[in-house]
Amino acid sequence: MGCVIAGGGPAGAMLALLLARSGVEVTLLEKHGDFLRDFRGDTIHPSTLQVLDELGLAQEFLKLPHRKAYDLNLVSDRGDIKIASLRRLPSAYRYIAFVPQWDFLKLITTAAERYPGFRLLMNAEAYDLIREGGAVRGLRYRDESGEHEIRADLTVAADGRHSVLRERAGLVPENLGAPMDVVWFRLPRHRSDRDDTFLRISPGHMMVAINRESYWQLAYLIVKGGYARLTEQGIDALRGPVGDLLPWLADRVGQIEGYDDVSVLTVALNRLRRWHRPGFLCIGDAAHAMSPVFGVGINLAVQDAVAAANLLAGMLGSGAPIPESALHRVQRRRMLPTRLTQAAQRLVQNRVINPALTGGLDPSRLPRDLTKIPLLNRVAPRFIGQGIRPEHVMVKEL
Ligand SMILES: Cc1cc2nc3c(=O)[nH]c(=O)nc-3n(C[C@H](O)[C@H](O)[C@H](O)COP(=O)(O)OP(=O)(O)OC[C@H]3O[C@@H](n4cnc5c(N)ncnc54)[C@H](O)[C@@H]3O)c2cc1C
Repeated sequence: MGCVIAGGGPAGAMLALLLARSGVEVTLLEKHGDFLRDFRGDTIHPSTLQVLDELGLAQEFLKLPHRKAYDLNLVSDRGDIKIASLRRLPSAYRYIAFVPQWDFLKLITTAAERYPGFRLLMNAEAYDLIREGGAVRGLRYRDESGEHEIRADLTVAADGRHSVLRERAGLVPENLGAPMDVVWFRLPRHRSDRDDTFLRISPGHMMVAINRESYWQLAYLIVKGGYARLTEQGIDALRGPVGDLLPWLADRVGQIEGYDDVSVLTVALNRLRRWHRPGFLCIGDAAHAMSPVFGVGINLAVQDAVAAANLLAGMLGSGAPIPESALHRVQRRRMLPTRLTQAAQRLVQNRVINPALTGGLDPSRLPRDLTKIPLLNRVAPRFIGQGIRPEHVMVKEL
């Protein structure tokens, strides 16, 4: 009966590919009709590039339209500060690749379609678990034609941070708190604009600017819960700070016509204490919603998938029952990276973002080049680029 996975995001798609590649029957359900959703995570870090390499997909991936960021810069009121560089990472991939998430997911699911055991159901929304004899034995989903059941040896919730299946399994994440929400929007990019992707901090304001060649993808950070107040003040309450932070964008801010042109991300930082029930496992954001700090949400989701496949593919392929202890091994392997990454995100949230948004941080006083601080230069690129305990594809292709 194999495996059924709810959620065709990075975690679910990657797990489905790895299992199908190793000969397991796997059904992947995605509630939307396509992967086209704007302002999702688009940052593919060296750890994920390495996984793609191990799957023989790196060259295909690098043919997708993308931009590479080798250095991470902060722009203060008094000029640029280099905060990290991936150029010396001990990896074949020394950059973050910015790729629309739908292109990444299409690549993964197309690769999975080469294997006979893979089945992708789009417009298929999982809504409940099938329970028998004290264990989960599959899920129930609905599509245009009605309600259906899929039975499986293992049911995986990869349905994101608002996971329905997690809730149906009675698992509740512990909230770790985040002081900010993020307002995403885009503005055209001119050839004469700067060329990098950077963080802009000025007392009371913080923004991330991602160079997408023809446009800037911009993330303006606001104090948690502040979006309603921002919208009440009218669109100039957003245009004004953006033009002040980056005066060379002031000629374009009028193109944000209203709040219909922006998308708000309510930032969540949480994790489950227990990721599993008999026959059931949560991975990716369903197990741990990540803060946007370091842009590592996709990468952790992919790493969870690789660890789960490494530990479970053999049992699933042989049709042997999956003991809950095997599911706990997946949690045990991925809990440390999750905890440490979330701890670092909290540190940045509390020491940098919160003070920046409340006017108590002025980065102008920092040294111009933080990569000259040896310890920071050794630790930061590895932490951001490769993460804690990077996973490698151990399951063989059948
Ligand atoms: C606005 C925004 C910006 C972000 N920016 C970044 C970034 O720059 N870098 C980064 O690394 N991370 C970023 N993240 C986080 C990143 O997108 C997530 O951490 C990552 O996508 C998690 O992958 P996942 O597969 O676990 O979950 P998701 O990507 O959330 O995928 C879950 C999938 O399940 C589907 N689904 C949900 N419910 C059901 C159901 N009941 N049945 C079937 N399917 C279902 C959803 O449609 C979705 O496709 C951002 C997140 C958001 C919301």
